Amino acid sequence: MDLLYESTRGGETGVTASQAILKGLAADGGLYVPERIPKLDVSLAQLAGMSYQETAFAVMKQFLTDFTEEELKYCISHAYDEKFDTEEIAPLAKAGGMYFLELFHGKTIAFKDMALSILPYFMTTAAKKNHVKNEIVILTATSGDTGKAAMSGFADVPGTRIIVFYPKDGVSRVQELQMLTQKGENTAVVGIYGNFDDAQTGVKKIFNDHDFAKEIDAMGFQLSSANSINIGRLIPQVVYYVYAYAKLCANGEIKEGETVNVTVPTGNFGNILAAYFAKQMGLPIDRLICASNDNKVLYDFFETGVYDKNREFILTSSPSMDILVSSNLERLLYLSCGRDAEHTREMMDQLSAGGRYESTPEMREFMKDFAAGYADMSENAAEIKKMFEENGYLIDTHTGVAAAVCEKYRALTGDGKKMIVASTASPYKFSRSVMEAILGKQPEAGEFELIDKMHEMSGVPIPQAIEEIRDAKIRHDRRCRPEEMKETVKSTFSK
Ligand SMILES: *Cc1c(COP(=O)(O)O)cnc(C)c1O
Repeated sequence: MDLLYESTRGGETGVTASQAILKGLAADGGLYVPERIPKLDVSLAQLAGMSYQETAFAVMKQFLTDFTEEELKYCISHAYDEKFDTEEIAPLAKAGGMYFLELFHGKTIAFKDMALSILPYFMTTAAKKNHVKNEIVILTATSGDTGKAAMSGFADVPGTRIIVFYPKDGVSRVQELQMLTQKGENTAVVGIYGNFDDAQTGVKKIFNDHDFAKEIDAMGFQLSSANSINIGRLIPQVVYYVYAYAKLCANGEIKEGETVNVTVPTGNFGNILAAYFAKQMGLPIDRLICASNDNKVLYDFFETGVYDKNREFILTSSPSMDILVSSNLERLLYLSCGRDAEHTREMMDQLSAGGRYESTPEMREFMKDFAAGYADMSENAAEIKKMFEENGYLIDTHTGVAAAVCEKYRALTGDGKKMIVASTASPYKFSRSVMEAILGKQPEAGEFELIDKMHEMSGVPIPQAIEEIRDAKIRHDRRCRPEEMKETVKSTFSK
């Protein structure tokens, strides 16, 4: 039986997986959710013997039921190949009493590669299936990592273009260089004078502009999204939780069926929602610990039931989590109020009008699988230093937030279950902040000198993604204000 998708705001039901991927965001402004979360139909014992690609097939076929076996296998085998620097794709590292699930072995050295390596294949397959004639324009807001990972996936893919908006002063130097040196005739990168929320709000506005959609349709274009609002981002992210659990079983670290906890460094709430989906599929996860940085809007939400973005936006050392409007939370809200689309729409209207909404006691009860914590910049730095000095394990600033929150959670609750920590970026992507944490002072060296020092100090090989930007030519230099985003998008069509 086909698994169909519906909008969290009630305007669309009965949407196939391939249509949901093509559109990204529903026309009513809502996010697509599957009408039920499917169960795994293979046993943990079977999963324990599977490769990453086999696990991906076992998970994805449950969600993407209108893709044929052949199509799915084609997408999977082209996505998870030598682009990754390890055959395991997502290896586990044990350090300091935690299992770090390393999700940064793809082309752009952040976890976004896990889903964005496959999204272009989903998209082109879905376009064929649905007889799409238009060129697909991927419109993306990035807090630093999605942009590069999406461009690297879509660069020169026939029938697609991609436009990325990033906060001009809100990303690391390596992140910025990675984006500005991107090759591919169909790629465009624009720095906006604003923060990630401005970029994301602007993109959503363009998606909801139905006149604009008609206008560009006449020109032969249609929009889609590479952000985690696209269900095609979320589903591939479920895979690595299943894979990690099965590998812990296979390696004798846990007993089959033993419950584990998961800590996820969270921004747009996509990665942790994928872990929740994995739990709903039947994976023995007990608690999902949502780790925030200084922008702790999610922590406050889980503690108090009130979501309130009316606060200062803080630029931190973990920029990919500098977000005050977490889009994917809408999916959890929808599920937690019993799929009440009207209620969800009301909350989202309150959010855009006053920046605030409240959950009901029933919703809070539904969300009790989630725990939340936060680590500020100094706690994060202390954790990175400790992890390196005591365990010889180098982590990046986002993983540092998660590890610090994991320790706080354990101290507070006494919950000693085995913990999987999502390790979301290579430390080389945030070399300056990582070195500052370990040295205890702002390093004076230039970016690449610092990277070489980090390599000498840690012995961790310098990833190919860093070598690629050392001497690469800058190819993009566009800037705009948030209110100019629509015009900017249009101007790239004439290219
Ligand atoms: C995007 C990102 C996050 C946050 O993930 P969400 O799915 O947005 O919650 C955390 N760490 C890194 C390195 C990222 O790139």
